[in-house]
Amino acid sequence: MPNSTERERERELSMENGGSAAARWRFEGNERLILAGGVTVRGVLNTVIGNLDGNDTRPVIPLGHGDPSAFPSFRTSPFAEDAVCSAVRSTKFNGYSSTVGIPAARSAVAEYLSKDLPYKLSPDDVFLTIGCTQALEAVVTVLARPGANLLLPRPGFPYYEARAGFCSLEFRHFDLLPEQDWEVDLASVEALADENTVAMVIINPGNPCGNVFKYEHLKKVAETARKLGILVISDEVYDHLTFGSNPFVPMGVFASIAPILTLGSISKRWIVPGWRLGWLVTNDPDGILTKQGIVDSIKGFLNISADPATFMQGAVPQILENTPSDFFQKIVSTLRETADICYERSKEIPCITCPSRPEGSMFAMVKLNLSLLEGIEDDMDFCCKLAKEESVILLPGFAVGLKNWLRVTFAIEPSSLDDGFLRIKAFHQRHAKKQ
Ligand SMILES: *Cc1c(COP(=O)(O)O)cnc(C)c1O
Repeated sequence: MPNSTERERERELSMENGGSAAARWRFEGNERLILAGGVTVRGVLNTVIGNLDGNDTRPVIPLGHGDPSAFPSFRTSPFAEDAVCSAVRSTKFNGYSSTVGIPAARSAVAEYLSKDLPYKLSPDDVFLTIGCTQALEAVVTVLARPGANLLLPRPGFPYYEARAGFCSLEFRHFDLLPEQDWEVDLASVEALADENTVAMVIINPGNPCGNVFKYEHLKKVAETARKLGILVISDEVYDHLTFGSNPFVPMGVFASIAPILTLGSISKRWIVPGWRLGWLVTNDPDGILTKQGIVDSIKGFLNISADPATFMQGAVPQILENTPSDFFQKIVSTLRETADICYERSKEIPCITCPSRPEGSMFAMVKLNLSLLEGIEDDMDFCCKLAKEESVILLPGFAVGLKNWLRVTFAIEPSSLDDGFLRIKAFHQRHAKKQ
Protein backbone atom coordinates (compact mmCIF):
# COMPACT_ATOMS: atom_id res chain seq x y z
CA MET A 1 0.00 0.00 0.00
CA PRO A 2 1.37 3.44 -0.91
CA ASN A 3 1.56 5.74 2.10
CA SER A 4 -0.06 9.18 2.18
CA THR A 5 3.01 11.10 0.94
CA GLU A 6 3.28 8.73 -2.04
CA ARG A 7 -0.36 9.28 -2.82
CA GLU A 8 0.19 13.01 -2.60
CA ARG A 9 3.10 12.79 -5.05
CA GLU A 10 1.03 10.72 -7.48
CA ARG A 11 -1.73 13.26 -7.38
CA GLU A 12 0.77 16.00 -8.18
CA LEU A 13 2.16 13.94 -11.08
CA SER A 14 -1.27 13.39 -12.52
CA MET A 15 -1.97 17.11 -12.27
CA GLU A 16 1.21 17.80 -14.26
CA ASN A 17 -0.09 15.37 -16.95
CA GLY A 18 -3.27 17.23 -17.44
CA GLY A 19 -5.41 16.85 -14.39
CA SER A 20 -8.12 14.30 -14.16
CA ALA A 21 -6.25 11.05 -15.12
CA ALA A 22 -5.95 8.32 -12.47
CA ALA A 23 -2.76 8.48 -10.43
CA ARG A 24 -1.63 4.95 -11.40
CA TRP A 25 -3.48 2.04 -13.00
CA ARG A 26 -3.92 -0.58 -10.30
CA PHE A 27 -4.56 -3.58 -12.58
CA GLU A 28 -2.21 -5.78 -14.53
CA GLY A 29 -2.22 -9.12 -16.39
CA ASN A 30 -2.06 -12.46 -14.61
CA GLU A 31 1.43 -13.86 -14.96
CA ARG A 32 0.23 -17.41 -14.28
CA LEU A 33 -2.18 -17.30 -17.22
CA ILE A 34 0.45 -15.95 -19.56
CA LEU A 35 2.75 -18.81 -18.47
CA ALA A 36 -0.01 -21.43 -18.70
CA GLY A 37 -0.60 -20.57 -22.33
CA GLY A 38 3.13 -20.86 -23.11
CA VAL A 39 3.63 -24.31 -24.63
CA THR A 40 0.35 -25.35 -26.21
CA VAL A 41 -0.21 -27.42 -29.33
CA ARG A 42 -1.93 -24.46 -30.95
CA GLY A 43 0.89 -22.05 -30.07
CA VAL A 44 3.60 -24.34 -31.48
CA LEU A 45 1.55 -25.08 -34.60
CA ASN A 46 1.07 -21.37 -35.23
CA THR A 47 4.84 -20.90 -35.19
CA VAL A 48 5.29 -23.78 -37.66
CA ILE A 49 2.52 -22.41 -39.90
CA GLY A 50 4.25 -19.03 -39.86
CA ASN A 51 7.01 -20.61 -41.99
CA LEU A 52 4.74 -21.47 -44.94
CA ASP A 53 5.95 -20.05 -48.23
CA GLY A 54 3.19 -17.93 -49.76
CA ASN A 55 4.63 -18.54 -53.25
CA ASP A 56 4.05 -22.31 -53.11
CA THR A 57 0.95 -22.89 -55.25
CA ARG A 58 0.35 -26.43 -53.94
CA PRO A 59 -2.30 -26.92 -51.26
CA VAL A 60 -1.06 -26.96 -47.66
CA ILE A 61 -1.27 -30.46 -46.15
CA PRO A 62 -2.24 -30.11 -42.49
CA LEU A 63 -0.95 -33.11 -40.49
CA GLY A 64 -0.56 -31.23 -37.23
CA HIS A 65 -4.12 -30.46 -36.17
CA GLY A 66 -6.65 -32.60 -34.28
CA ASP A 67 -9.86 -31.49 -35.97
CA PRO A 68 -10.86 -33.28 -39.19
CA SER A 69 -14.40 -31.83 -39.23
CA ALA A 70 -13.68 -29.73 -42.34
CA PHE A 71 -12.80 -32.75 -44.55
CA PRO A 72 -15.58 -34.36 -46.61
CA SER A 73 -14.64 -37.90 -45.48
CA PHE A 74 -15.10 -36.85 -41.86
CA ARG A 75 -18.40 -35.02 -42.03
CA THR A 76 -20.63 -35.80 -39.06
CA SER A 77 -23.79 -37.87 -39.41
CA PRO A 78 -26.81 -35.97 -40.82
CA PHE A 79 -28.71 -37.78 -38.09
CA ALA A 80 -26.75 -35.89 -35.42
CA GLU A 81 -27.32 -32.60 -37.26
CA ASP A 82 -31.08 -33.27 -37.31
CA ALA A 83 -31.06 -34.14 -33.60
CA VAL A 84 -29.57 -30.71 -32.80
CA CYS A 85 -32.04 -28.89 -35.08
CA SER A 86 -35.03 -30.68 -33.52
CA ALA A 87 -33.76 -29.90 -30.04
CA VAL A 88 -33.50 -26.22 -30.94
CA ARG A 89 -36.99 -26.16 -32.55
CA SER A 90 -38.68 -28.09 -29.73
CA THR A 91 -38.67 -24.93 -27.54
CA LYS A 92 -37.94 -27.22 -24.59
CA PHE A 93 -34.26 -26.32 -24.29
CA ASN A 94 -34.20 -22.54 -24.30
CA GLY A 95 -33.69 -22.15 -20.57
CA TYR A 96 -30.73 -22.59 -18.24
CA SER A 97 -29.56 -26.12 -17.59
CA SER A 98 -29.04 -27.47 -14.09
CA THR A 99 -25.36 -27.25 -13.15
CA VAL A 100 -24.76 -31.01 -13.39
CA GLY A 101 -26.66 -31.38 -16.70
CA ILE A 102 -30.29 -32.04 -17.65
CA PRO A 103 -31.63 -35.41 -16.42
CA ALA A 104 -32.38 -36.86 -19.89
CA ALA A 105 -28.83 -36.21 -21.07
CA ARG A 106 -27.28 -37.65 -17.89
CA SER A 107 -29.38 -40.80 -18.29
CA ALA A 108 -28.43 -41.14 -21.96
CA VAL A 109 -24.69 -40.90 -21.20
CA ALA A 110 -25.07 -43.41 -18.34
CA GLU A 111 -26.82 -45.85 -20.72
CA TYR A 112 -24.29 -45.28 -23.51
CA LEU A 113 -21.27 -45.97 -21.29
CA SER A 114 -22.89 -48.85 -19.38
CA LYS A 115 -23.06 -50.90 -22.60
CA ASP A 116 -19.33 -51.55 -22.25
CA LEU A 117 -19.27 -52.06 -18.47
CA PRO A 118 -19.96 -55.09 -16.24
CA TYR A 119 -22.30 -52.92 -14.10
CA LYS A 120 -24.79 -50.12 -14.74
CA LEU A 121 -23.91 -46.48 -14.19
CA SER A 122 -26.52 -44.27 -12.56
CA PRO A 123 -27.45 -40.90 -14.13
CA ASP A 124 -26.09 -39.42 -10.88
CA ASP A 125 -22.62 -40.67 -11.85
CA VAL A 126 -22.67 -38.44 -14.94
CA PHE A 127 -21.81 -34.72 -15.07
CA LEU A 128 -22.26 -32.89 -18.37
CA THR A 129 -19.43 -30.54 -19.33
CA ILE A 130 -18.41 -28.13 -22.07
CA GLY A 131 -16.45 -30.71 -24.06
CA CYS A 132 -13.93 -33.09 -22.56
CA THR A 133 -11.81 -29.99 -21.94
CA GLN A 134 -14.05 -28.76 -19.14
CA ALA A 135 -14.21 -32.26 -17.64
CA LEU A 136 -10.42 -32.23 -17.50
CA GLU A 137 -10.44 -28.74 -16.01
CA ALA A 138 -12.92 -29.88 -13.34
CA VAL A 139 -10.85 -32.91 -12.35
CA VAL A 140 -7.57 -31.02 -12.14
CA THR A 141 -9.18 -28.22 -10.11
CA VAL A 142 -10.85 -30.68 -7.73
CA LEU A 143 -7.55 -32.49 -7.06
CA ALA A 144 -5.46 -29.35 -6.67
CA ARG A 145 -5.04 -29.15 -2.93
CA PRO A 146 -1.76 -27.68 -1.63
CA GLY A 147 1.10 -30.17 -1.68
CA ALA A 148 -0.67 -32.75 -3.87
CA ASN A 149 0.83 -34.13 -7.07
CA LEU A 150 -0.57 -35.71 -10.23
CA LEU A 151 1.10 -38.29 -12.51
CA LEU A 152 0.86 -37.55 -16.24
CA PRO A 153 1.89 -39.58 -19.31
CA ARG A 154 4.84 -38.60 -21.51
CA PRO A 155 4.17 -38.10 -24.36
CA GLY A 156 0.76 -36.71 -23.53
CA PHE A 157 -1.84 -34.02 -24.01
CA PRO A 158 -0.29 -30.73 -22.84
CA TYR A 159 -3.57 -29.24 -21.68
CA TYR A 160 -3.17 -31.34 -18.49
CA GLU A 161 0.19 -29.74 -17.70
CA ALA A 162 -1.17 -26.26 -18.50
CA ARG A 163 -4.23 -26.68 -16.25
CA ALA A 164 -2.31 -28.29 -13.41
CA GLY A 165 0.32 -25.54 -13.61
CA PHE A 166 -2.36 -22.88 -13.46
CA CYS A 167 -3.99 -24.56 -10.42
CA SER A 168 -0.58 -24.95 -8.70
CA LEU A 169 -0.98 -28.72 -8.77
CA GLU A 170 2.44 -30.34 -9.07
CA PHE A 171 2.77 -32.90 -11.88
CA ARG A 172 5.30 -35.63 -12.56
CA HIS A 173 5.76 -37.61 -15.77
CA PHE A 174 5.78 -41.34 -16.26
CA ASP A 175 6.84 -42.74 -19.61
CA LEU A 176 4.87 -44.52 -22.27
CA LEU A 177 7.12 -47.18 -23.81
CA PRO A 178 7.39 -47.03 -27.63
CA GLU A 179 8.93 -50.49 -27.86
CA GLN A 180 5.99 -51.94 -25.91
CA ASP A 181 3.15 -50.49 -27.98
CA TRP A 182 3.24 -47.36 -25.81
CA GLU A 183 2.19 -49.14 -22.64
CA VAL A 184 2.54 -47.31 -19.33
CA ASP A 185 5.91 -47.83 -17.62
CA LEU A 186 4.30 -48.99 -14.38
CA ALA A 187 7.65 -49.26 -12.61
CA SER A 188 8.18 -45.54 -13.22
CA VAL A 189 4.68 -44.81 -11.91
CA GLU A 190 5.53 -46.56 -8.65
CA ALA A 191 8.89 -44.87 -8.43
CA LEU A 192 7.38 -41.39 -8.95
CA ALA A 193 4.48 -41.72 -6.52
CA ASP A 194 4.69 -40.64 -2.90
CA GLU A 195 2.20 -40.01 -0.09
CA ASN A 196 1.07 -36.78 -1.78
CA THR A 197 0.24 -38.39 -5.13
CA VAL A 198 -3.50 -38.24 -5.72
CA ALA A 199 -4.12 -39.57 -9.25
CA MET A 200 -2.66 -40.71 -12.56
CA VAL A 201 -3.93 -39.91 -16.04
CA ILE A 202 -4.19 -42.32 -18.96
CA ILE A 203 -5.45 -41.46 -22.44
CA ASN A 204 -7.02 -44.44 -24.21
CA PRO A 205 -7.20 -44.72 -27.22
CA GLY A 206 -4.01 -42.69 -27.13
CA ASN A 207 -3.28 -39.15 -28.17
CA PRO A 208 -0.54 -38.66 -29.35
CA CYS A 209 0.57 -42.29 -29.84
CA GLY A 210 -2.42 -43.92 -31.56
CA ASN A 211 -2.16 -46.93 -29.25
CA VAL A 212 -5.02 -48.87 -27.62
CA PHE A 213 -4.35 -50.41 -24.21
CA LYS A 214 -5.02 -54.10 -23.76
CA TYR A 215 -7.46 -55.38 -21.12
CA GLU A 216 -4.61 -56.99 -19.13
CA HIS A 217 -2.55 -53.81 -19.13
CA LEU A 218 -5.48 -51.67 -17.94
CA LYS A 219 -6.03 -54.14 -15.13
CA LYS A 220 -2.40 -53.70 -14.08
CA VAL A 221 -2.87 -49.92 -14.15
CA ALA A 222 -5.83 -50.31 -11.78
CA GLU A 223 -3.85 -52.62 -9.49
CA THR A 224 -0.97 -50.15 -9.37
CA ALA A 225 -3.40 -47.33 -8.52
CA ARG A 226 -4.91 -49.42 -5.73
CA LYS A 227 -1.51 -50.19 -4.28
CA LEU A 228 -0.64 -46.47 -4.32
CA GLY A 229 -4.05 -45.35 -3.00
CA ILE A 230 -4.66 -43.07 -5.99
CA LEU A 231 -7.50 -42.72 -8.48
CA VAL A 232 -7.23 -43.17 -12.23
CA ILE A 233 -8.37 -40.41 -14.59
CA SER A 234 -9.15 -42.10 -17.89
CA ASP A 235 -9.40 -39.73 -20.85
CA GLU A 236 -11.54 -41.71 -23.31
CA VAL A 237 -12.35 -38.86 -25.68
CA TYR A 238 -11.42 -41.24 -28.58
CA ASP A 239 -13.62 -44.07 -27.31
CA HIS A 240 -14.48 -46.62 -30.02
CA LEU A 241 -12.17 -45.00 -32.57
CA THR A 242 -10.16 -48.23 -32.82
CA PHE A 243 -9.18 -50.13 -35.94
CA GLY A 244 -6.49 -52.63 -34.98
CA SER A 245 -6.30 -55.86 -33.01
CA ASN A 246 -7.00 -54.39 -29.56
CA PRO A 247 -10.65 -53.57 -28.89
CA PHE A 248 -11.53 -50.48 -26.85
CA VAL A 249 -11.91 -51.38 -23.17
CA PRO A 250 -13.13 -48.61 -20.86
CA MET A 251 -11.09 -48.18 -17.67
CA GLY A 252 -14.37 -48.23 -15.75
CA VAL A 253 -14.34 -52.03 -16.15
CA PHE A 254 -11.75 -52.05 -13.33
CA ALA A 255 -13.53 -49.62 -11.00
CA SER A 256 -13.85 -52.23 -8.27
CA ILE A 257 -10.05 -52.37 -8.09
CA ALA A 258 -9.51 -48.59 -7.91
CA PRO A 259 -11.91 -45.64 -8.36
CA ILE A 260 -11.98 -44.23 -11.88
CA LEU A 261 -12.98 -40.85 -13.29
CA THR A 262 -13.84 -41.22 -16.97
CA LEU A 263 -13.65 -38.20 -19.28
CA GLY A 264 -15.29 -38.13 -22.68
CA SER A 265 -17.21 -36.16 -25.26
CA ILE A 266 -18.94 -36.39 -28.62
CA SER A 267 -16.18 -34.25 -30.17
CA LYS A 268 -14.06 -37.01 -31.69
CA ARG A 269 -16.32 -39.98 -32.35
CA TRP A 270 -18.99 -37.77 -33.96
CA ILE A 271 -16.38 -35.33 -35.35
CA VAL A 272 -18.08 -32.27 -33.90
CA PRO A 273 -15.48 -30.65 -31.63
CA GLY A 274 -17.26 -27.32 -32.08
CA TRP A 275 -20.45 -28.61 -30.45
CA ARG A 276 -18.74 -28.55 -27.04
CA LEU A 277 -20.52 -31.41 -25.32
CA GLY A 278 -18.63 -33.68 -22.97
CA TRP A 279 -18.89 -35.56 -19.69
CA LEU A 280 -17.15 -36.43 -16.47
CA VAL A 281 -18.24 -39.77 -15.01
CA THR A 282 -17.54 -41.36 -11.64
CA ASN A 283 -16.96 -45.13 -11.88
CA ASP A 284 -17.16 -45.85 -8.21
CA PRO A 285 -19.09 -49.01 -7.24
CA ASP A 286 -17.65 -48.91 -3.71
CA GLY A 287 -18.50 -45.25 -3.07
CA ILE A 288 -14.88 -44.25 -2.42
CA LEU A 289 -15.02 -41.03 -4.48
CA THR A 290 -18.15 -39.96 -2.59
CA LYS A 291 -16.60 -40.76 0.79
CA GLN A 292 -13.40 -38.90 -0.05
CA GLY A 293 -15.36 -35.74 -0.97
CA ILE A 294 -14.54 -35.89 -4.68
CA VAL A 295 -18.18 -36.01 -5.82
CA ASP A 296 -19.15 -32.97 -3.73
CA SER A 297 -16.10 -31.11 -5.02
CA ILE A 298 -17.09 -31.85 -8.63
CA LYS A 299 -20.57 -30.46 -7.90
CA GLY A 300 -18.96 -27.43 -6.27
CA PHE A 301 -16.82 -26.83 -9.35
CA LEU A 302 -19.86 -27.10 -11.64
CA ASN A 303 -21.83 -24.73 -9.40
CA ILE A 304 -19.36 -21.98 -10.19
CA SER A 305 -18.93 -22.84 -13.90
CA ALA A 306 -20.81 -22.30 -17.16
CA ASP A 307 -22.85 -25.22 -18.55
CA PRO A 308 -22.92 -26.77 -22.00
CA ALA A 309 -25.68 -25.23 -24.17
CA THR A 310 -29.04 -26.66 -23.07
CA PHE A 311 -30.18 -27.52 -26.62
CA MET A 312 -26.97 -29.53 -27.14
CA GLN A 313 -27.80 -31.48 -23.99
CA GLY A 314 -31.32 -31.86 -25.33
CA ALA A 315 -29.96 -33.52 -28.47
CA VAL A 316 -27.70 -35.94 -26.57
CA PRO A 317 -30.22 -38.79 -26.09
CA GLN A 318 -30.97 -38.89 -29.83
CA ILE A 319 -27.30 -38.58 -30.82
CA LEU A 320 -26.06 -41.30 -28.46
CA GLU A 321 -28.91 -43.76 -28.90
CA ASN A 322 -29.83 -43.49 -32.54
CA THR A 323 -26.89 -42.46 -34.73
CA PRO A 324 -26.87 -45.16 -37.44
CA SER A 325 -23.97 -47.57 -37.02
CA ASP A 326 -22.90 -47.23 -40.67
CA PHE A 327 -21.67 -43.71 -39.83
CA PHE A 328 -19.23 -45.12 -37.24
CA GLN A 329 -18.20 -47.95 -39.56
CA LYS A 330 -17.36 -45.52 -42.31
CA ILE A 331 -15.29 -43.25 -40.06
CA VAL A 332 -13.41 -46.17 -38.54
CA SER A 333 -12.68 -47.70 -41.93
CA THR A 334 -11.40 -44.35 -43.24
CA LEU A 335 -9.16 -44.03 -40.17
CA ARG A 336 -7.92 -47.60 -40.68
CA GLU A 337 -7.03 -46.74 -44.27
CA THR A 338 -5.23 -43.51 -43.35
CA ALA A 339 -3.44 -45.09 -40.35
CA ASP A 340 -2.09 -47.72 -42.77
CA ILE A 341 -0.95 -45.07 -45.25
CA CYS A 342 0.83 -43.29 -42.38
CA TYR A 343 2.55 -46.47 -41.17
CA GLU A 344 3.50 -47.87 -44.59
CA ARG A 345 4.60 -44.57 -46.11
CA SER A 346 6.78 -43.67 -43.15
CA LYS A 347 8.78 -46.88 -43.79
CA GLU A 348 9.85 -45.38 -47.13
CA ILE A 349 11.41 -42.34 -45.42
CA PRO A 350 14.70 -43.23 -43.72
CA CYS A 351 14.81 -40.31 -41.26
CA ILE A 352 11.47 -41.21 -39.58
CA THR A 353 10.42 -44.40 -37.83
CA CYS A 354 6.94 -45.27 -36.65
CA PRO A 355 7.44 -47.81 -33.84
CA SER A 356 4.06 -49.49 -34.26
CA ARG A 357 1.04 -49.36 -36.52
CA PRO A 358 -1.51 -46.93 -35.04
CA GLU A 359 -4.59 -48.77 -33.77
CA GLY A 360 -6.77 -45.96 -32.47
CA SER A 361 -7.42 -42.21 -32.19
CA MET A 362 -6.22 -39.97 -35.04
CA PHE A 363 -2.49 -39.70 -34.33
CA ALA A 364 0.83 -41.47 -34.57
CA MET A 365 4.24 -40.60 -33.14
CA VAL A 366 7.24 -41.05 -35.42
CA LYS A 367 10.84 -40.83 -34.31
CA LEU A 368 13.19 -38.48 -36.10
CA ASN A 369 16.71 -39.70 -36.87
CA LEU A 370 18.62 -36.42 -37.19
CA SER A 371 21.95 -38.14 -37.85
CA LEU A 372 20.69 -38.97 -41.36
CA LEU A 373 20.04 -35.31 -42.15
CA GLU A 374 22.23 -32.34 -42.86
CA GLY A 375 21.50 -28.91 -41.42
CA ILE A 376 18.42 -29.84 -39.40
CA GLU A 377 18.84 -29.00 -35.74
CA ASP A 378 15.87 -30.59 -34.03
CA ASP A 379 12.16 -31.46 -34.36
CA MET A 380 11.10 -27.79 -34.41
CA ASP A 381 13.66 -26.95 -37.09
CA PHE A 382 12.50 -29.99 -39.12
CA CYS A 383 8.86 -28.88 -38.96
CA CYS A 384 9.59 -25.24 -39.79
CA LYS A 385 11.74 -26.13 -42.82
CA LEU A 386 9.24 -28.77 -43.95
CA ALA A 387 6.46 -26.17 -43.80
CA LYS A 388 8.55 -23.69 -45.78
CA GLU A 389 9.78 -26.09 -48.47
CA GLU A 390 6.92 -28.57 -48.85
CA SER A 391 3.82 -26.88 -47.35
CA VAL A 392 3.30 -29.83 -45.00
CA ILE A 393 2.45 -29.13 -41.36
CA LEU A 394 3.58 -31.56 -38.65
CA LEU A 395 3.66 -31.08 -34.88
CA PRO A 396 7.14 -31.16 -33.31
CA GLY A 397 7.24 -33.84 -30.60
CA PHE A 398 8.52 -31.49 -27.88
CA ALA A 399 5.02 -29.94 -27.82
CA VAL A 400 3.68 -33.25 -26.47
CA GLY A 401 6.71 -34.06 -24.30
CA LEU A 402 9.02 -36.01 -26.67
CA LYS A 403 11.81 -34.02 -28.22
CA ASN A 404 12.95 -35.06 -31.69
CA TRP A 405 9.81 -37.00 -32.42
CA LEU A 406 6.93 -35.82 -34.60
CA ARG A 407 3.19 -36.15 -34.14
CA VAL A 408 1.33 -36.97 -37.36
CA THR A 409 -2.44 -36.62 -37.65
CA PHE A 410 -3.79 -39.13 -40.12
CA ALA A 411 -7.43 -37.95 -39.88
CA ILE A 412 -7.41 -36.29 -43.31
CA GLU A 413 -8.50 -37.24 -46.83
CA PRO A 414 -6.52 -40.38 -47.82
CA SER A 415 -5.21 -38.86 -51.07
CA SER A 416 -3.91 -35.74 -49.26
CA LEU A 417 -2.19 -37.90 -46.66
CA ASP A 418 -0.47 -39.89 -49.39
CA ASP A 419 0.62 -36.66 -51.06
CA GLY A 420 1.89 -35.37 -47.70
CA PHE A 421 4.17 -38.38 -47.23
CA LEU A 422 5.52 -38.04 -50.79
CA ARG A 423 6.47 -34.46 -49.95
CA ILE A 424 8.13 -35.52 -46.67
CA LYS A 425 10.09 -38.08 -48.70
CA ALA A 426 11.23 -35.38 -51.14
CA PHE A 427 12.25 -33.24 -48.17
CA HIS A 428 14.26 -36.12 -46.74
CA GLN A 429 16.06 -36.65 -50.04
CA ARG A 430 16.93 -32.97 -50.30
CA HIS A 431 18.39 -32.89 -46.77
CA ALA A 432 19.90 -36.39 -46.55
CA LYS A 433 23.52 -36.49 -45.38
CA LYS A 434 25.85 -37.50 -48.21
CA GLN A 435 27.47 -40.90 -47.49
C1 LIG B 1 -9.46 -33.41 -28.08
C2 LIG B 1 -9.03 -33.89 -26.74
C3 LIG B 1 -9.64 -33.44 -25.57
C4 LIG B 1 -10.66 -32.33 -25.57
O1 LIG B 1 -11.86 -32.74 -26.11
P1 LIG B 1 -13.07 -31.70 -26.36
O2 LIG B 1 -14.29 -32.54 -26.25
O3 LIG B 1 -12.88 -31.15 -27.73
O4 LIG B 1 -13.01 -30.65 -25.33
C5 LIG B 1 -9.24 -33.98 -24.36
N1 LIG B 1 -8.29 -34.93 -24.30
C6 LIG B 1 -7.65 -35.37 -25.41
C7 LIG B 1 -6.60 -36.41 -25.28
C8 LIG B 1 -8.00 -34.86 -26.67
O5 LIG B 1 -7.34 -35.28 -27.75
